[in-house]
Amino acid sequence: MKKIALTLLVITLILVVCIGVNTLQFTSKQPNVASIDGIEVNTARAVQTLSAAIKLETISHQNSKDAVDQPFFELAQLISDRFPAVAQNLQKTVINKKSLLYKWQGKNSQLKPITFLAHLDVVPAEQGTLDQWKYPPFSGVIAEGFVWGRGTLDDKSSVLGTLEAVEHLIESGFAPNRTVYLAFGHDEEIGGKQGAAKIAEYMAQQGINSLFTLDEGMVVLNKQLSPAGKDTAIIGIAEKGYVTLRLTAHAEGGHSSMPTSTGAIGILAGAITALEQNQRPSKFADTVEETFSFLGPEMGLVDRIMFANQWLFGSAIISALERKTSTAAMIRSTTAITMIEGGFKENAIPSQASATVNFRILPGESSAEIKKHVERVIANPAISVDFITNSTPTEPSKISAADTTGFSTIGRTAQQLFPGAIFAPGLVLAGTDSVNYQNSAENNYRFAPYVLGPDDLGRIHGINERIRIEDYGLMIKFYAQLIINMDE
Ligand SMILES: [Zn+2]
Repeated sequence: MKKIALTLLVITLILVVCIGVNTLQFTSKQPNVASIDGIEVNTARAVQTLSAAIKLETISHQNSKDAVDQPFFELAQLISDRFPAVAQNLQKTVINKKSLLYKWQGKNSQLKPITFLAHLDVVPAEQGTLDQWKYPPFSGVIAEGFVWGRGTLDDKSSVLGTLEAVEHLIESGFAPNRTVYLAFGHDEEIGGKQGAAKIAEYMAQQGINSLFTLDEGMVVLNKQLSPAGKDTAIIGIAEKGYVTLRLTAHAEGGHSSMPTSTGAIGILAGAITALEQNQRPSKFADTVEETFSFLGPEMGLVDRIMFANQWLFGSAIISALERKTSTAAMIRSTTAITMIEGGFKENAIPSQASATVNFRILPGESSAEIKKHVERVIANPAISVDFITNSTPTEPSKISAADTTGFSTIGRTAQQLFPGAIFAPGLVLAGTDSVNYQNSAENNYRFAPYVLGPDDLGRIHGINERIRIEDYGLMIKFYAQLIINMDE
């Protein structure tokens, strides 16, 4: 008896020591960075230009027949007019009519260029919600300390913010050692195939290989949103894939006075329930592990102990992350039933019913695997499973490195301009233009330098999109400082 108690005591002691040592070795990855003021920015002028750009309705429509080119041409003209130093010092190439590529030649052609990505197009404002906008979506109103309208966050602030940064740097006499590209696609919101993909193709033809691209995708999460409880610049190192499947149930139709027990709608309903109850498995994938290797050491003691000892607490961490939809989406491929169709008359049983299911694929999985999963879960020959025809699947991106000079310079620059903030790599849950540049840059990073809180998340693609004037000034400073820092 004594022997067993002693053995247990020894095992417990070893365990405690292991946990303790791991926790002590789990140290901060944040460099010691002093905050700075950054370059001098003429915010009043910059805000006027952003406002003028918001007024141009550069909308991407799902149906290409609805496309209107004129606002894109006007935006290109506005850029030429308002950025004289850029016009004079950068080489501009128009790609596929509406996309723009600017090259700012560096003095040292041995250095690999850096490329800033952003998109000129915006999503429409939903018709039924127009009366809920405080200021009309394409008014570009400057009021209450904000610029209001569609594109202020996504993504004209990045287009114009990078241009402002370059314009201000040229005005101050700065000439880069490293070549800088600004690449603005015109159809990101509908997949980027005509914009970003064509720019990337052109850059490949020219033999341009960037050290990194920097695109939208992640932001500075304020302390309420960040799992670390402090402002956190999340730099996206990967993005999820995208695939949509259509399930079609076939059965015998007929009159509703003599129904069979298995109509097409009933069969389909069973399949939908099965899919919702059998989610793709959760896993602590590479990207999430990277995220928490940066965030973990900044968290409270209990979290720190857990993340430092994943070998012991791995499944507890996963079930904690599964509990919130936002964190659940980080650790598994998600299943979303988005459309349903079936039936044509109240007293007739249809012979066919269909559902559309959208999946966001975790890096490491593929669209083919998702389709197999669906077929396995449904396991019903009366239901066919097909990729939808008007949208090709996008596979998850490759994972960019978080231990490069580029990555740490982006993080350090964020710390310089967002006092008290930490930074960490992350997984982008939606899609960006970056996937088109996977072969034309060593790494693809995704970070738009503005702070978002819980109240702001719904504004992107939603109602009352706006950017704080002060925050826009900071964006410009960030882009300029990053160019300066990458030049050292
Ligand atoms: Zn966007």
